[in-house]
Amino acid sequence: MIEPESRAEPAPVKVTCPDCGHVRVAPTDLRLVVVEAPGSSFYVFLCPGCEKRVRREVTKDVAGALLARRVPAVRSVGGG
Ligand SMILES: [Zn+2]
Repeated sequence: MIEPESRAEPAPVKVTCPDCGHVRVAPTDLRLVVVEAPGSSFYVFLCPGCEKRVRREVTKDVAGALLARRVPAVRSVGGG
């Protein structure tokens, strides 16, 4: 049975692990790192499948989608 995702609950976010493929993690288990240089932002998460820390670069659109889902974000500081 396939049910539509509920918008009322914090639905898991589908992310990609190089070893496990698509996995789902809670938004709070993700961390988005926003870098000012275009195309340099990325997210990190601890894969529930292989328990490795995974880092994936994201596009601006994906970063925006993650922010919309309340994924915690930090802004990378370039110093100076
Ligand atoms: Zn994995």
